[in-house]
Parts: sequence; structure tokens; C-alpha cells
Amino acid sequence: MSDIGDKIASIKGQLPEQVRLVAVSKTKPIEDIQTAYDAGHRIFGENKAIELQEKAEALPDNIHWHFIGHLQRNKVKYIAPFVKLIHAVDSLRLLKEINKEALKNDRIISCLLQFHIASEETKFGLDIKEAAELLSSDEYKAMKNIKITGIMGMASNTFDTELIRAEFQHLLNIFQSVKYKFFLDDIFYREISMGMSNDYQIAVQEGSTLVRIGSSIFGARNYNK
Ligand SMILES: *Cc1c(COP(=O)(O)O)cnc(C)c1O
Repeated sequence: MSDIGDKIASIKGQLPEQVRLVAVSKTKPIEDIQTAYDAGHRIFGENKAIELQEKAEALPDNIHWHFIGHLQRNKVKYIAPFVKLIHAVDSLRLLKEINKEALKNDRIISCLLQFHIASEETKFGLDIKEAAELLSSDEYKAMKNIKITGIMGMASNTFDTELIRAEFQHLLNIFQSVKYKFFLDDIFYREISMGMSNDYQIAVQEGSTLVRIGSSIFGARNYNK
């Protein structure tokens, strides 16, 4: 089997049954994705809308494409026809745009709300209060073409594994409190997208259902190419 196929098999071998692997193929060539596909893998993650659209056109139709990074509203249209899950929704405005494009395509698009859990400063991710405002709004309640199926977060980029664990525990707590307040009887609300190459083992121990792994499968990324 290929190197990429071996790595996917070895990671999947460590994941409990309820945890799915998103193979993060951003910046990587079509051939690498095809290799992973030929090894039987079907869920891939990308973080640039146009790159994703081009790859989706070139590769088999039965791939489940996940959008994992920050999504600009003016790029939603490129992925709305086919994207399976958008991991990082962090505003009502973005959700409205996704709803609008999903309607145009006669689809219901699954989305995760991104929460800010890392101690590092970043621009992206909601806090509990912002999420509650979004989910309580009449505009959200009127949306027919999106479905919130869970939440997503990124831990600090650090070697401090106890800090990472605490941040994932925080995300699990957020998942449960959001479920209790807004999705109590909703069987579709069930995903916690957390864990990357360096921290997915901790994420799985703390309740992840979707791990997003790139470099441990495809090798280090070269952004200067
Ligand atoms: C790039 C990326 C990943 C994968 O990172 P690796 O460290 O290569 O596993 C996961 N999640 C998001 C949001 C990313 O942008």
C-alpha cells in the first residue's frame, strides 16, 4: 500500500468507532488525494474555496468534502453546490450567506459553529454569549437550508499537553451546554470537531467525533510553492 494509505490506516486504527477522520489535503496535489481515495478514504478537508472547487471537479463525485478554515462570505458560492460540512461558522452573516447559497442549490448544508477555546489571540471563533445570541435570533430560526450539526474548535499551538486537554474539555462543556439550551431533542446535533496532527489523541480522549489531520498523512506543507 502507498505511504499515504499506510498513514491513514494507522491513524484510523487508533480511532474509536464513533470518531471520523477528515484527511486535510489543503495545498496538496490532486494525486495525493487520489492516492488516499484509492486506499479507500472518502472524507477530505480543504480551507480555500477555489482550491476546493478545483479539486472537487477533478476528483470522484463520491468524496465528502469538508470546508475546515475561515470562510469568506463572497466565497460560499463556489462550494455550496457540493460541500458536505462547513466546520468553522463564526457569524450570523456567514450563516445567512450559506443559507442563501444552499437554497439556490436546493440543498441543506450542514455546519458547525466555531468556538474560540485557545489561550492565543485569534480573530476567529465565537464565545458562548455570541453563540447564544446567534441561535436565539429570529434570523437564524427562519433559516431552512442550513443545519447546525455540532461545534468545532482549535486548541493552542503548544507543547503544554495539559493546556490542550483543558481547552478540549472546555469545548466539550460548550458542546453540552449548547445542546442543552438549543438542541436537546435534535439528533443531528452531535459533532465535536477537534484534534489535528499534533493533538488528536488528546482530542479523542476528550470526546472528539471528527479529527482533522493533514501533515501526519500527507507530510509537511510547503506554502511557498
Ligand atoms: C490545516 C488545518 C488542520 C490540519 O493541520 P495538521 O497540523 O496538518 O494536521 C486542521 N484544522 C484546520 C482548521 C486547519 O486549518
